[in-house]
Amino acid sequence: MTEPKPYPTAPVELPLRLEPDPEPTAGCDVCLALDSQRTEARMRGDLSKVSDLNVEIRRHAHGS
Ligand SMILES: [Zn+2]
Repeated sequence: MTEPKPYPTAPVELPLRLEPDPEPTAGCDVCLALDSQRTEARMRGDLSKVSDLNVEIRRHAHGS
């Protein structure tokens, strides 16, 4: 049995978007270290740490 909805469901913009994990840059020790910490944090279920590390990896810009 389906109940009628009082209003149509609008697409909801979530404040916390789930972005795909950034890829570590191959050959960069910093990125590789961050990536392994991220894997570790994910296995612990520490998602806020995972997202911190994602930010760091994304910010670790490489010149070219
Ligand atoms: Zn890097």
